[in-house]
Amino acid sequence: MISPVLPTYARAPLSFVSGEGSWLIDEQGKRYLDAGAGIAVSILGHAHPGLVEALSAQASKLWHTSNLYEIPNQLRLAELLVANTFADNVFFTNSGTEATEAAVKMARKYWSFHGQAERFKVIALKNSFHGRTLAMISASGNEKHTAGFGPLLDGFCQVAPNDPEALAAAIDENTAAVMVEPILGEGGIIPLTDSYLRQVRRLCDEHRILLIADEIQCGMGRTGKLFAHEWAGVTPDIMAIAKGIGGGFPLGACLATEAASVGMTAGAHGSTFGGNPLACAVGIAVMEEVANEEFLEGVRRRAGRLRQRLESVVSSHPDIFEEVRGQGLILGFSCRVSNMDVIEAGYAKELLLVPGGDNTVRLLPPLNATEDELLEVADRIDRAAADLGTVNHA
Ligand code: PLP
Repeated sequence: MISPVLPTYARAPLSFVSGEGSWLIDEQGKRYLDAGAGIAVSILGHAHPGLVEALSAQASKLWHTSNLYEIPNQLRLAELLVANTFADNVFFTNSGTEATEAAVKMARKYWSFHGQAERFKVIALKNSFHGRTLAMISASGNEKHTAGFGPLLDGFCQVAPNDPEALAAAIDENTAAVMVEPILGEGGIIPLTDSYLRQVRRLCDEHRILLIADEIQCGMGRTGKLFAHEWAGVTPDIMAIAKGIGGGFPLGACLATEAASVGMTAGAHGSTFGGNPLACAVGIAVMEEVANEEFLEGVRRRAGRLRQRLESVVSSHPDIFEEVRGQGLILGFSCRVSNMDVIEAGYAKELLLVPGGDNTVRLLPPLNATEDELLEVADRIDRAAADLGTVNHA
């Protein structure tokens, strides 16, 4: 019989009834160590008391009014984001793909505002992922996501990551913007080098085109800085965020400089739910916890310990793993066996990992996971790999 849920997801046969910090609990009371955090979403773990309190307090007062009216929580969250980034203003969304979509619309509007509507093209990176709307699958151009959905939207092309010459060659008189994930997440944890990001910025400046950073997966403290682009000392003109900013509540945002957002006047863009009081109450609580040096320093320190341990796991299982890559708590193992075999071996050790492109296994644990929990993640991967190794050699 057909499932009442459209079968677009290949789901693991697991389901959870509650969560506590870095742990998810199933109906039988079995506790799984969550090293995926709902694909980089639950950055403060599950049922964080501060987030529960922020949401419950708002829920008992007011859920929704619409963007017809002022929304104080939205203004407060925008102020926090502006105070902690390059941006001068923020548009709120409910998801990541709406944030990247807003970013691309903004870049096109910028050029039409300046009388150059022929500049509508956006250069993205091969193996990038910017979401599932028609425009965003056109942007990434990944056959896995575009098959059967054509014709795709005009105005996008893709160049290889970390290849400044390829980018320079792709820029022409129709280019509006370049859009990059500082660490390609879905693509298999592929970090852009600092030098490449600086060259991207330089090329954008030279050609006066806009730089859009998609930090939906790698932002919000995950690399040990609030946003990943900070490591390279470059700033984008526009940035899409989502996932972590809501800590598990649906929330995204498109941040921009005053100059880049110049065309986005009243009526230019909108969303019924974007920036709703509930979502923004949680977003404020997340920002208050994460956007401070002490928290970020803790992420860097604990991530350093985890990385050390993971490197030794990789060298103990050369037939299973090739390398570990990434930064902070956005890490990926490239695998020599099927990544899904590693993930299933993880389930058997009550460990939740996330598959990624390029046959990788991703680790995206809550940013407040303790050092012991992170080392336990590494131990469980070690034991899962040992089981797989035994099978491989049997
Ligand atoms: N951009 C990046 C870098 C992502 O990792 C994702 C989701 O994985 C998206 C965009 C799309 O976000 P959403 O699924 O919330 O629409």
